[in-house]
Amino acid sequence: MSDLTHLTLADARDALKSKKVSAVELTKAHISAMENARGLNCFITETPDLALKQAEASDARLASGEAGPLEGLPLGIKDLYCSKGVRTTAASRILDDFTPTYESTVSANLLRDGAVTLGKLNLDEFAMGSSNETSAFGPVVSPWKRKGDPGAKIVPGGSSGGSSAAVAAHLCLGATATDTGGSIRQPAAFTGTVGIKPTYGRCSRWGIVAFASSLDQAGPITRTVRDAAIMLRSMAGHDLKDTTSVDAPVPDYEAAIGASVKGRRIGVPKEYRLDGMSAEIAALWEEGVQWLKDAGAEIVEISLPHTKYALPTYYIIAPAEASSNLARYDGVRYGLRMPGRDIVDMYEKTRAEGFGAEVRRRIMIGTYVLSAGYYDAYYVRAQKVRSLIKRDFDEAFAAGVDAVLTPATPSTAFAQGEQGATDPVEMYLNDVFTVTVNMAGLPGISVPGGLAANGLPLGLQLIGRPFDEETLFSLAHAVEQAAPKFDFPEPWWR
Ligand code: GLN
Repeated sequence: MSDLTHLTLADARDALKSKKVSAVELTKAHISAMENARGLNCFITETPDLALKQAEASDARLASGEAGPLEGLPLGIKDLYCSKGVRTTAASRILDDFTPTYESTVSANLLRDGAVTLGKLNLDEFAMGSSNETSAFGPVVSPWKRKGDPGAKIVPGGSSGGSSAAVAAHLCLGATATDTGGSIRQPAAFTGTVGIKPTYGRCSRWGIVAFASSLDQAGPITRTVRDAAIMLRSMAGHDLKDTTSVDAPVPDYEAAIGASVKGRRIGVPKEYRLDGMSAEIAALWEEGVQWLKDAGAEIVEISLPHTKYALPTYYIIAPAEASSNLARYDGVRYGLRMPGRDIVDMYEKTRAEGFGAEVRRRIMIGTYVLSAGYYDAYYVRAQKVRSLIKRDFDEAFAAGVDAVLTPATPSTAFAQGEQGATDPVEMYLNDVFTVTVNMAGLPGISVPGGLAANGLPLGLQLIGRPFDEETLFSLAHAVEQAAPKFDFPEPWWR
C-alpha cells in the first residue's frame, strides 16, 4: 500500500484511469501516511472522513466515465484557503475557530476537477515568515536531515512549509500554496520539491485569506514539474469574484513538458551575484546555466539594476497592505474575542491576544509607513521603486530574453531557531531572490538542482514573461532532466 504514496501525481492519475488502483485505495494510503507523520506537524486539520467520501465519489465517476482531470488524487490545502465547513485558521489564534461557509475559488476549482482533499496544511501565521516557525500551531519539521546532524530539526521553508514538507514526505501528491514574496518557491527549494508562483492575476485570490493583496498569488507545490503543470491548469482561471483575476484562457500547461527549449534566450542577471554568495550557490547557478545551454538555450548576461531595492521595498509594501487587510480581525466578525471594558478595549485585547509577534510587528510597520507623516516618504516612494523593478524586467524581455535564471534561495534550509531569533532581517533575507518576482507580478518557478554538501536540497529559479508559464514549465523540465537525481528522505518520523 505504501508504494501508492510514491507515485507522482501524473502516474497516480494514469493508474486510476486504467483502474490499476482505486481512488479509495490511493486515499487510504495517503491518510495513513498523514496519520503516521504527525511528528512533522504538517497538517493543522486532518479531514480523513471527507477525503474518503470524496474518493468514493471519484471512484463512481471513474467507473461511469465522467472523471475530471484530477479525479481521485489526494491533495493537501494550505490553511490560508477557505474550505467550506472545515476549520480555516491561517495558522493564527485569531482565527482559531473560524469555519467558512464558502470555498475559495482555487480549491473549488480543484474539487470541480475531482481532487480529494486530505486536510489543511500548516503555514507561517498569515503567511508571514520563511521557516514556518511563526505558526500558532507550532513549527513544521522538514523530512530532510542535515548530514551528520540527526538531532537538528530542519525547517521546511515558509510560509508554505506544511505544503512543502507534506509533499516531500509523500503525505499527499501535491499541495496548494501561496506566494507573496517567495512562499511557494523558497519552501520548494528547501525541500527538493517544485513550486510555481504564476503571474499575478492567473489564479483567483477569492477566499484565500489576504496578506498583501497586490502581491499574493496561489500556486502548487509538487514533486515533479509535470505535476505542477497539471495542478496549475486546474487552479488557474478567471473569476468574477476577483477583479484582479485575468480573463484569458488557461493553456494546457502539461503540453509544455518536454517541449524543446532550443534557441530560448535565458538572461542571467549580474545583480543576483550577491557579495558573499556561497560558493555552493554560485556553482549551482553555473550548473543550471550549463544544463540549459546543453538543452539548446542561449545564455545572455543581463542587468536588473534595481534588484538591491527589492527587499527593503517589499518590507514596506507588504506590511502596509497587511496592516490594512488584517484590520478586519476585530473580535466582532471572525474567530477569537477577548472580553473588554468597552469596544475599544475588546478590540485591543483581542488583537493583542490573537496575533503572534511577527504579525504584530508587520501591523506596526505597515501602520507606520501608511501614517500621515510618513506615507510619502515610505509608501509612495516604495511604490515608485516597485515600478522601476518591474521596468528592469520589461526591458530585459523587450530585448528578447525569454526567461531569467537565478538561484531560488541564498542558502539551504537551516535548523529551527538558527535564523531571525535576534534580528528579523536575517530571516527576511531568505527571500532576496524571490521578492522581485512578486513586485513585478511575474511568474516564477523553483526547481530542484541537487543536494548541497550538507545533504539538503538546493533550488534554481526561472522567471518568465507575464502569462508565459508554459515557457517556464518547458525550461524547468529541462533543468529537472539534467539535474542530479536524489531520493526523498526515508520516513524516519513514523
Ligand atoms: N517570507 C516573506 C514574508 O515573510 C514572504 C512570505 C510569503 O510569500 N507569503 O513576508
